[in-house]
Amino acid sequence: MCADDRAHEIAPRSGVAFTLDKGDRLTVIDPRGEQVADLLAFNRHDLDEVVSSGRTLDYASRIYLTTGDALYSNRSNVLLRIVEDTVGRHDFLLTPCSADTFRIIYGDAQPHRGCFGNLAAALAPFGIAPDRIPVAFNCFMNVVIDGATGTLSVEPPLSRAGDHITFEAVTDLVIGLTACSALQSNNGRFKPIHYRVNPYTTGGQKS
Ligand SMILES: [Zn+2]
Repeated sequence: MCADDRAHEIAPRSGVAFTLDKGDRLTVIDPRGEQVADLLAFNRHDLDEVVSSGRTLDYASRIYLTTGDALYSNRSNVLLRIVEDTVGRHDFLLTPCSADTFRIIYGDAQPHRGCFGNLAAALAPFGIAPDRIPVAFNCFMNVVIDGATGTLSVEPPLSRAGDHITFEAVTDLVIGLTACSALQSNNGRFKPIHYRVNPYTTGGQKS
């Protein structure tokens, strides 16, 4: 159950996909704290256009994105804009966790399908094949970089219960969103994620 009755819950270690119309606002909420949510965005009218970490970080000249920053596509169009952010630390470097992540990094013999598998399953009904899944924008994921060596370390998220990040859809989108399945990313505990969509309105009417 969500405290906010307009919010949807993503169960621990699962994922969903849904559409946004241009102008809609998507708020991703960490209801308990220290929980990552992987976010993907595709152009709903041309699924070959997808959010691009490489272009976004290049144009921002920064790896930590927050309020006011844009998420660009592989075609350098803005798909989403961050309009509110109570945390200020998210990751856009690392791919969604996957069965291979758990096999290679954790040594799991029977690995969970991870965010990648959850995203692939949720996006399949929209006609999006697994090989089209790029680096996700990892809401609340805290990847710390050693500036001298470039060493990455995945640290506990800085998010506390109720923290959130809000995106505005700049075009019509298909969104994939998870409650991340990797122990290290979530300080050792799998928790739900909540999200809310506020439709674009003008004068109180959905346009
Ligand atoms: Zn994950």
